[in-house]
Amino acid sequence: MVNDKGIRVDGRRVDELRPIKLEAGVLNRADGSAYIEWGENKVLAAVYGPREAHPRHRQDPARALVQCRYNMAPFSVSDRKRPGPDRRSVEISKVISEAFSHVVLREQFPRATVDVFMEVLQANAGTRCTALTVAAVALADAGIPMRDIISSCAFGKADGQVILDLNKEEDNEGEADVPIAIVPRTNEVVLMQMDGHITKEEFDSGLKMAVDACHRINEMQRDALRRRYSVTTDTREAVKAISEGV
Ligand code: UDP
Repeated sequence: MVNDKGIRVDGRRVDELRPIKLEAGVLNRADGSAYIEWGENKVLAAVYGPREAHPRHRQDPARALVQCRYNMAPFSVSDRKRPGPDRRSVEISKVISEAFSHVVLREQFPRATVDVFMEVLQANAGTRCTALTVAAVALADAGIPMRDIISSCAFGKADGQVILDLNKEEDNEGEADVPIAIVPRTNEVVLMQMDGHITKEEFDSGLKMAVDACHRINEMQRDALRRRYSVTTDTREAVKAISEGV
């Protein structure tokens, strides 16, 4: 899994992320949307709201609900996945909802809901981190007020070495997988799960690695939003000319 030069099966160093491509505003009918390719993971996110929560008995009179649905397409994995929700997707939807509930300014929208849909089109381990990262961009694209744009990444252990952002082989063969999500401004942890075993020292060094990676990912998330909303001088002049009837 890791050779004596510290190089992994896919040629990465232990603290190297897979390549990430991120685009905001890809769907016309959603209030906010984004698409990400992270290594071989491909995930689309769509956000609706804030809108009135239904059925009414689910409404919170003091704040908005943040309801998330993580879904894996049947064709996203090598052994076809049975369509529809399963234990795993219900769990992932729940932990992602809880993470966003910490940053969305829910008190501004009593009785409302913000709905977040994440569709995994292709999976190669780390899809919950990928889904959360792209959904955070879609929430910002929808103009949902938040304390920060949260970012996510996993660390783990394979061949006795602490590694960042596990791929499928490392996830299957490795000793541990620890996905986290943080609020970059404060470094608060809003999601942390652990599968496998790791010592306290390994945990501490892996956590530092993943937090650093989340800061780099946050820059990519902001960059995707900047690309979506930046107005070039040419565009400004064209808009002015149209409005003046030129
Ligand atoms: N996976 C799969 N079939 C499934 C669920 C998962 O092949 O029904 C694969 C998929 O590539 C996924 C990986 O196993 O990314 C690791 O799954 P895990 O539950 O650890 O979640 P993730 O790492 O994707 O957040």
